[in-house]
Amino acid sequence: MKDVEAILKEVAERLKDNYPYGDPLYAGQMLKPPHDVARRAYEMALKINPNNHALDGGRASSAMEKEAVAALARMIGWADTHLGHLSSGGTMANLEALWIAGQLHPGKTILASTQAHYTHQRIAGVLGLPFETIACDRNGRMDVQALERRLAAGGIGTVVATMGTTATGAVDPLPAIVDLRRRFDFRIHADAAYGGYFILADNLSGETKLAFSCVREAESIVIDPHKHGLQPYGCGCVIFHDPSVGRLYRHDSPYTYFTSTDLHLGEISLECSRPGAAAVALWATQRMFPLEPGGEFAKGLESGRAAALELYSRLRKDGRFVTGTAPALDILVWAPRAKRVSEASTLSQRVFDEAAKRQLHLALATLPVDLIDAQDMQRDRDTIVCLRSVLMKPEHHEWVDRIWSILDDATTAAGVKR
Ligand SMILES: *Cc1c(COP(=O)(O)O)cnc(C)c1O
Repeated sequence: MKDVEAILKEVAERLKDNYPYGDPLYAGQMLKPPHDVARRAYEMALKINPNNHALDGGRASSAMEKEAVAALARMIGWADTHLGHLSSGGTMANLEALWIAGQLHPGKTILASTQAHYTHQRIAGVLGLPFETIACDRNGRMDVQALERRLAAGGIGTVVATMGTTATGAVDPLPAIVDLRRRFDFRIHADAAYGGYFILADNLSGETKLAFSCVREAESIVIDPHKHGLQPYGCGCVIFHDPSVGRLYRHDSPYTYFTSTDLHLGEISLECSRPGAAAVALWATQRMFPLEPGGEFAKGLESGRAAALELYSRLRKDGRFVTGTAPALDILVWAPRAKRVSEASTLSQRVFDEAAKRQLHLALATLPVDLIDAQDMQRDRDTIVCLRSVLMKPEHHEWVDRIWSILDDATTAAGVKR
């Protein structure tokens, strides 16, 4: 038998094969390093390994989960009532929200925009509910007129509003969707897995700010603390405004071990066993960074967004690039300018490779051409491969000059003409 040391050395060797996710020059996918306080609190709890299914499995960590989720509920404006819990991630959290939606509107259709997370369609399939998409406008936001037409045709149970799409960070026009609910009977589920925490930021556009201020009007919301909330993976969160949906979870299993009348989180969760350590890590992080406007955590979000705006303005001023519309959050997309859309797509891939050689890690995204300001390009394709950057680390702001200078070199090396 090998000893632990020897195996851990092998592990260390294997783990070398990764991108440098914690580095400010990693500016590609949605990867933000967990804060030290989260890591260490998680490790402490892991020594005990509590299970937040039932109070019997994790008394302290269940209490901490309830407090941490209540803080998220307060952040979005549900200080009065809420019911929610942590989950393994945004997908499970969305599954749960749409499962409840399906119980309340059985057989009715779920609508989400064409830029909504791909898992919504799959979730609807799992739940056996009809699913349809609504077209997006040039900003990658759900088109309200298209939504209104579809609602008028009938049969809609739930509209998913994405508060920060995964590809471009677009924020659906929630105020208009809330208005439509006065005329049509449907539930609103806010998928704020990525963008939810931006409700705290002070440098959003007026329109985006207004959309976030309407999140409290939704019936349910999903926020991923493992995206922007400084948590290790395995931490999503679903919250309902009306706690009476708890009745829909009722089950009766012979091995259920709820031995007290206090709320066991397993009574309001689709998942059974869940890591108490994730709750402890989130609770500790919120002690360090209270979820308040103007606080340290909010400043971190504002800093990433400022980085995205700065990079966007440089891209706009440089004739070698075409871009999407101004970023709503801290994600931006652009492509090298070329005669044809297909050529621009090839060049995006080349810039991506050249940037990686220079230690700048970007991402690629295939988007409908309409989302990019590319009127003067020949449209030989309906989709364009773009460069995409998620500037979610607070340090990104100080690193914009360096990011820009590497991007400049990589663009030249890729053969993009001035
Ligand atoms: C990331 C994301 C999801 C999926 O969440 P996971 O935690 O990856 O399961 C769902 N919706 C949106 C908008 C997301 O950004």
